[in-house]
Amino acid sequence: MKCSMCERKAIYFNGKAYLCKEHFIEYFESKVLDTIKKYELIKEGDRIGVGVSGGKDSTSLLYFLNKYKDYLGIEVIGIHIDEGIEGYRNILTEFLLDLAKKFDWKIKIYRFKDYFDYNLDDYVKRIKKLKPCTICGVFRRWLMWKASMDLELNKFATAHNLNDEVQTILMNMIENNRKDFAKEGPKVGIIEEGFITRIKPFYFIKEKETLIYSIINGINPPWAECKYIFGEIRDDLRRWLYKIESEYPGFHENFIKESLDIVFKAKKDFPKVKINKCKLCGYPTSREICRACEIKNYLN
Ligand SMILES: [Zn+2]
Ligand SMILES: [Zn+2]
Repeated sequence: MKCSMCERKAIYFNGKAYLCKEHFIEYFESKVLDTIKKYELIKEGDRIGVGVSGGKDSTSLLYFLNKYKDYLGIEVIGIHIDEGIEGYRNILTEFLLDLAKKFDWKIKIYRFKDYFDYNLDDYVKRIKKLKPCTICGVFRRWLMWKASMDLELNKFATAHNLNDEVQTILMNMIENNRKDFAKEGPKVGIIEEGFITRIKPFYFIKEKETLIYSIINGINPPWAECKYIFGEIRDDLRRWLYKIESEYPGFHENFIKESLDIVFKAKKDFPKVKINKCKLCGYPTSREICRACEIKNYLN
C-alpha cells in the first residue's frame, strides 16, 4: 500500500489515511502538539520532569519532549524510578542510560533502596497483606513528589496513552469511584494541594502508535515484563479491550471522548482539597503519617 500523502510505502493506517514513515512521524507529533495546545499542558519556561520507566511509551515521550524542548521553551529532566525488580528493571535502566548518553538526555535516578531501605522484591517477600502494585504505587508517588521538590519542577509529565486511560476510567467505573475521575484527563493537579500539575501529552495516542514511533526512532526497548502484573484487574482489562478494539475499530477514541465529559464534571464537583503534611517526611496527606512512611516503618 502507498502513503496517501506521497509516493512512499505506507507503514500505518490511522483510520483515515495510509502513512509512510515520514508522514507517520508528522501525524504522531502534530497530534501530541495539538493535545498540548488544546489542553494547555505546557507553558514557556516550564521545568518538566518526565516519568521514564525505560518502556516504549515513556522513552518515546522523553524523546519527543527533548526534540521539541527549544520549540516549546522548556527544560526536560527524565525521572527514572528503580524499584528493584530483578530481571526487569535492571534491563530497562541499562537500556535507558545508553539512550540518554546517545541523545544527551538529562536523567535522574531514584531508587527504592535509597529511600525506603529495601527493594520492592524484599518488600513483597516480607509484607503479604499488601499487593506488590499497591506498595510500588505508594512509593512511586512519594518519589515523584520528592523529585519535584529536589529538582524544583513545576510539572510532571507521564506517558499514559489512550489505552491506559480507557483502562483506568473503566477501573474507576467498576469500583464506582466517582471522586477519582477528577484525577483523570490530560491535565491533573487540581484535586490535592502540595502536588505539582501532572500532564499526559500522549493522552490521545494509541499504544500501537507509540510502539511504531519508538521503532522508527530506534528507541524501542528490549522485551522485559514486570513479574507482579499477573492477576491484576488492569491486566485482564487490557486483554479484553484489545479484543474489543480489533472487532470495533475506534472504540477507544469514542470511549474517551464520552468519558472526558464525566472527568471534567468530576473536576468541578470535587474541587481542590486542603491537606496536611506527613509528620515524618512532609509529604502532602490527609493522614498524620503518610502511607509511604507507614509501609516503610512496618518493615523496619
Ligand atoms: Zn508519505
Ligand atoms: Zn511520610
